[in-house]
Amino acid sequence: MSKEITARSEDYSQWYNDLVLKGGLADYSAVRGCMVIKPHGFALWENMRDVLDKMFKDTGHQNAYFPLFIPKSFLSKEAAHVEGFAKECAVVTHYRLKNDPNGGGVVVDPEAKLEEELIVRPTSETIIWNTYKDWIQSYRDLPLLINQWANVVRWEMRTRLFLRTAEFLWQEGHTAHATAEEAIAETRQMLDIYAEFAEKYMALPVIKGVKSASERFAGAEDTYCIEALMQDGKALQAGTSHFLGQNFAKAFEVKFSNKENKQEYVWATSWGVSTRLVGALVMAHSDDQGLILPPRISPLQVVIVPIFKGDDQKKLIDDKVNEIIKELKAAGIRVKYDDSDNARPGWKFAEYEMKGVPVRIALGARDLENNVAEVARRDEKTKSSLSLDGLSGQIVQLLEDIQQNMYNKALAYRESHITPVNTWEEFEKVLDEKGGFVAAHWDGTPETEAAIKERTKATIRCIPLNNVQEAGTCILSGKPSKERVLFARAY
Ligand code: AMP
Repeated sequence: MSKEITARSEDYSQWYNDLVLKGGLADYSAVRGCMVIKPHGFALWENMRDVLDKMFKDTGHQNAYFPLFIPKSFLSKEAAHVEGFAKECAVVTHYRLKNDPNGGGVVVDPEAKLEEELIVRPTSETIIWNTYKDWIQSYRDLPLLINQWANVVRWEMRTRLFLRTAEFLWQEGHTAHATAEEAIAETRQMLDIYAEFAEKYMALPVIKGVKSASERFAGAEDTYCIEALMQDGKALQAGTSHFLGQNFAKAFEVKFSNKENKQEYVWATSWGVSTRLVGALVMAHSDDQGLILPPRISPLQVVIVPIFKGDDQKKLIDDKVNEIIKELKAAGIRVKYDDSDNARPGWKFAEYEMKGVPVRIALGARDLENNVAEVARRDEKTKSSLSLDGLSGQIVQLLEDIQQNMYNKALAYRESHITPVNTWEEFEKVLDEKGGFVAAHWDGTPETEAAIKERTKATIRCIPLNNVQEAGTCILSGKPSKERVLFARAY
């Protein structure tokens, strides 16, 4: 079996790629920087999507869909926005191919040049705000709370499966409000939803914070983010929520008449999470045997493998398993019976470990006689013998334990990897020898931030929302600072 996984300790990057490829989440594709998401990976994304979609709808948002293409002139209307995205845009210039009369095969038809070039959306603020101009006239049209599930394209130079791809799947929320306060409240609410989703469903502790000016979304007044820590001590931005002020309303002339019948520009937010979250799950939880998926979003929660000799034993086990499956399904558990005869139990065990299924139940003839099953948990790799009486209740509890244990483990790692430092020497030492978040004073200037990045590759991940104000001096410039910010090397 070609299922050897590179050890995490040997080569973390290769370990990650091995898990994504051999765990059946995704494949490289013929197009540079783009990946094929395989059924197991897509099922995981669908489960994330379903939970998030419900959270969005529960807070009053509706889904809609806007075009894949954005006229170039739209993108240019907000100066900071186009500046930020220009370097990553895929541009459509023609709408037809033709046979080369000189026998050169199929070529672009020069006569089919678009009058205005189209950009494959890197994000949809511009096309959406161009539409909102028609949708918003009065304060009665506000707030407008829209979300879109879509693909976007950013021509990234250094790509990595799930974490950074040229095309990725995501959701993008785009809301319009009558006041700055309401828009800011929406920005914060969506950040809270992302954090709750990450912690409760992905078992991934995150730090909520605000980005420094240079890490802000192009066109935003403020970018809020959730930052997670991977097992190699590198940080990952797992979601963003932007307060856009009136920038897009001004660029697209979106005004509303307020209660006093006066015209005002609309206030905006946008927020998104992407298929990057699948990569975050892999990097935060898995081990050298394969994926470890949190039960709440694992496509499969329980797999049952029979162990038997001959048809008579198989029949007895089948009957019992059918009962168990009924019971588990009634308890809302996603379960599969793998009685395929093309692989031995040991092979199946390894395969489901690789795929990260949280619980494996093995059932043999001897177990049936003793009215027990051998139950293995993926997170701790421990086995126990559980009574078949009331098995579903025990499994429900076990899945909860696994979910909680995964969160606690990730949290303990994260907590032990937030290191306050007070000098430049300490700063470099912690980054090189320990990794994780380094809490340090910074003078608040983009120049110092850039110099620190240049020297160490560490960036300001965020200024935590729950920061305590504490006077100090910048680790690089020695100038005064009023609070610590979190630095890290990041994906
Ligand atoms: P942004 O619009 O830049 O704030 O990004 C929105 C979300 O998409 C964030 O959660 C990012 O982590 C994620 N994201 C940004 N670029 C990529 C990429 N190239 N591949 C996958 N996810 C991305």
